[in-house]
Amino acid sequence: MEPKKSEAIILRTRDLGESDLIVTFFSSLYGNLKGLARGARRSSKRFVNSLNILSLVDLEFRERRSSELVWLDSCELIEGFPGIRSDYKLLSRASYMVEMTEILFPSNVPSPEMFQLLRSALGSISNRRDTEETLIMFQARAMKIGGFGINSSKCSLCGRPYKGKGRALFHPPSGSIVCLACEKESVLTPGMEPDTVHVLEQLQSSDLSLSTTLRFNQEILRELKGVLMAHIEHRLGKSLRSAKYLR
Ligand SMILES: [Zn+2]
Repeated sequence: MEPKKSEAIILRTRDLGESDLIVTFFSSLYGNLKGLARGARRSSKRFVNSLNILSLVDLEFRERRSSELVWLDSCELIEGFPGIRSDYKLLSRASYMVEMTEILFPSNVPSPEMFQLLRSALGSISNRRDTEETLIMFQARAMKIGGFGINSSKCSLCGRPYKGKGRALFHPPSGSIVCLACEKESVLTPGMEPDTVHVLEQLQSSDLSLSTTLRFNQEILRELKGVLMAHIEHRLGKSLRSAKYLR
């Protein structure tokens, strides 16, 4: 089979036998794949220091006719994000982002946009740039890219358009905002000030690069956290194992 090349982020590795490694990676062009790196645990020139979890790499691989597992031919390190590995809190955030990526984009579903998002979010976290904001941005963008954007244009229960005035509530079952006439604010239907709804819209709609620092005040951050957690839990289930380490 023809060799394929792509940038990729290493999500997980597992030992196989005495010298091989099974590598799960999210590639820019082909999505989430698993590959066999033969001899990677012996000194192998084809994989020098590149098969570490969360590393950004250039991968060359070939598909196999009878197996889901691809052959990894070579791997070259682009960026290792060393800052993440030295800090448990940063590692927890990165693990959470990886898990969300895998749930939203399971095997063989490519999304170059999602790849770029994960890549820049890991970069920001590794440089300890506004890690809380980065996580919020990642959650909002990832859900949108995965097809689960929050609808903030109107109340999903009565249909009244939201004109950016007054508090709006987030309603997880509809993935949309609802008005105060239709629902009461609670942990299950968290509320947002107009500024928070506005920031959420920005996060979902623009091609916002994570490298430009977007700062929110504490109140917006707190509200967005509650809304996105409720949204993600409802859509992706409680299966996000790493979520508990964020609290
Ligand atoms: Zn309503």
